[in-house]
Amino acid sequence: MASEYDVIVIGGGPAGYPAAIRAAQNKLKVACIDEWKNKDGSAVFGGTCTNAGCIPSKALLESTELFVKTKDELGVHGIKVGGVEFDVTQMQKRKTGIVKASTTGIAMLLKSAGVTPLQGHGKLLPGKKVEFTAHDGKKETLSAKHIVLASGSIPTELKSMPFDGKNIVDNWGALDFDSVPKKLAVVGAGVIGLELGSVWRRLGAEVTVLEALPDFLGTADRDIAKVAAREFAKQGLAIKLGAKVSKAEIKGDTVEVTYADAKGEQKIVVDKLLVAVGRRAFTEGVLGDGTGVKVDARGRIDVDEHCWTGVEGVWAVGDCVRGAMLAHKGFEEGMAVAELIAGKAGHVNYDTIPWVIYTEPEIAWAGKTEEELKAANIPYKTGSFPFAAVGRAVAMNETAGQVKVIAHAETDRILGVHMVGPGVSELIAEAVVAMEFHGSAEDLARIVHAHPTLSEAVHEAALSGDKRAIHKAN
Ligand code: NAD
Repeated sequence: MASEYDVIVIGGGPAGYPAAIRAAQNKLKVACIDEWKNKDGSAVFGGTCTNAGCIPSKALLESTELFVKTKDELGVHGIKVGGVEFDVTQMQKRKTGIVKASTTGIAMLLKSAGVTPLQGHGKLLPGKKVEFTAHDGKKETLSAKHIVLASGSIPTELKSMPFDGKNIVDNWGALDFDSVPKKLAVVGAGVIGLELGSVWRRLGAEVTVLEALPDFLGTADRDIAKVAAREFAKQGLAIKLGAKVSKAEIKGDTVEVTYADAKGEQKIVVDKLLVAVGRRAFTEGVLGDGTGVKVDARGRIDVDEHCWTGVEGVWAVGDCVRGAMLAHKGFEEGMAVAELIAGKAGHVNYDTIPWVIYTEPEIAWAGKTEEELKAANIPYKTGSFPFAAVGRAVAMNETAGQVKVIAHAETDRILGVHMVGPGVSELIAEAVVAMEFHGSAEDLARIVHAHPTLSEAVHEAALSGDKRAIHKAN
């Protein structure tokens, strides 16, 4: 193995592997170190997103949504089905296969780009050196002109409800249940709580989501959150707001969860507890002594707007630095840094990062909410349009939800777009493009949108800001 590189990337998740591939595309000599091991002991690239996050959760969300549709929604189309059943083992097998195909694909991409894959632990040392410990324990000191730290994040564990991997689990544990828990409680009505709560609810679990904050989906637009809360309640997801969980105790094969709400202390007993109260940057064992790299009060590696740590040749990207813990934010940071290292232009526009929650209906947004604009004293106008008035959504029998476009009251520049409804994880891309190009609501309104498509909701919402929507009363 060579010991000198142009670039060494520590971490092969969604921030690290794109950094390595782009650096190699830029004709640099690159190594990518990753220590991930799956539960079967296999060492793979792809990090949390591919192995224990985005990809496996979407696999299960897809399977369980198909089950619900087949069971409950085909009748209205005149399709008669009987005896609809599910097989958790097969769902899990399919999920594992999808994860395997993804990690195999990433390994192939690294290889074909000419990146040296190193499986084991990477530790930054002073003087642009990296200590690499292979999974068999063999150590080697490597050096590089540039080192990119992309060590990711791990679930936040609360002392009062430690994970035991069986009854009290994190997202990875909740993705791997081999049967449907009769009763599942979730601490935190955030992205993970809602997505994984939905998976097991759709298969029949009684799901109670306990959220400490009084508002549902506090970072989302209020109108969007209201529609989502209504739809989740219809699905039988019991979301309790203002319910702060203080402890969870394993009793036999159950978990007793204690929380406080407006009525005082409450207890529920469940079979499984998913604790999804956020994630924290993972840097343990990554920063050797005397490197000069600083971490902030929340344990995140300190970087400037270009993901530079302030130490010559050392960069950090993805979940281990400030900003949204989203795979696509990591992708872009990784690629941007690889461009900067090669002396090219690289940047990330943090103002247009899309958020998506893959529930049913889906929730997606980019840019500012009305609350943020009010707080910043920015004058704005809004236009919205319901999917119930979109022909394609009606034909699909998926009419819940709406699109809201927020534009500057004077300049008409789009400041935020918020959606809940069918296919909005894809529709949000149009909003991102428009915002990236500094588009106005009028621009969106003048763009031809195919009919009949769900994208007409975006078109009509933009028109509605000036009370010119065609398919609703303004
Ligand atoms: P989150 O920050 O989205 O939500 C955690 C929730 O837990 C918060 O609403 C918080 O108020 C609540 N909470 C904290 N302590 C509590 C307590 N004691 N009792 C009750 N409620 C409590 O975190 P998450 O859902 O764990 O997700 C972690 C990260 O992973 C997030 O940054 C998220 O963006 C990312 N992620 C993204 C996606 C996606 O993009 N679709 C999917 C999964 C995860």
